Amino acid sequence: MDKSQLIKEVFDSVASHYDIMNDIISFGIHRLWKNKMVNITHFTKNSKVLDIAGGTGDIAIRIARREPSIQVTVCDINQNMLSRGIDKAINLNQLNFNWVCANAENLPFEDSIFDYCTIAFGIRNVSDRKKALSEAYRVLKLNGKFICLEFAPMHYQNEVFTKFYNLYSFKVIPKIGSIVAKDKNSYKYLVRSIREFPTQAEFQMEIEKIGFRNVEFHDMSYGIVTLHIGTK
Ligand code: SAM
Repeated sequence: MDKSQLIKEVFDSVASHYDIMNDIISFGIHRLWKNKMVNITHFTKNSKVLDIAGGTGDIAIRIARREPSIQVTVCDINQNMLSRGIDKAINLNQLNFNWVCANAENLPFEDSIFDYCTIAFGIRNVSDRKKALSEAYRVLKLNGKFICLEFAPMHYQNEVFTKFYNLYSFKVIPKIGSIVAKDKNSYKYLVRSIREFPTQAEFQMEIEKIGFRNVEFHDMSYGIVTLHIGTK
């Protein structure tokens, strides 16, 4: 099965339990990572943000709370994930987002129209990372910011922590997936995909090769996740 079909099946299957599973398997810490991603960025008033692979809208909701004048477009390839997000946003009275079902590798937007492109835990799921990065670059205005939150593969010196993290990732998370979301295999895939993602420095180079400048990364939680930032 090709990667895009696999990803579609994974997120079709997990959509209804996506938010609760994130809370359980990260002990709620994903909320802090997402808060930090949004808080560290000084979004300017009335700017336009494209949240790529925006799923159930966690990043969009945080951005709108921080700066209500921003116009946020949430784009995701999976309509089931977006539908969950739309319901969640309505419940939170966030009615101003544009929701667009589209592939990050072929964005249905004109060149140079967004001030920020955000993507949280999405870039490792796309089939062609270079295409997705190029598309983010294309739709950003000059001086626009690319802000990407993603897990990093673990290269820990500390053997005890590595053992614990591996055990938790490969044994406990799929088990929780099978109990809560009735889907062990999707969570096996999600864990495996983290290990296959490039290191922070390698990904930084990929972003730079697209043409972004001032590319930098900031590790969070001892490098379990990393925030990558670049400027067009
Ligand atoms: N950004 C959200 C968050 O942080 O909660 C959702 C992250 S979820 C782990 C990954 C999302 O990437 C899924 O909603 C999936 O449908 C989306 N995705 C995967 N491949 C994509 C692609 N090629 N284009 C757009 N979205 C994609």
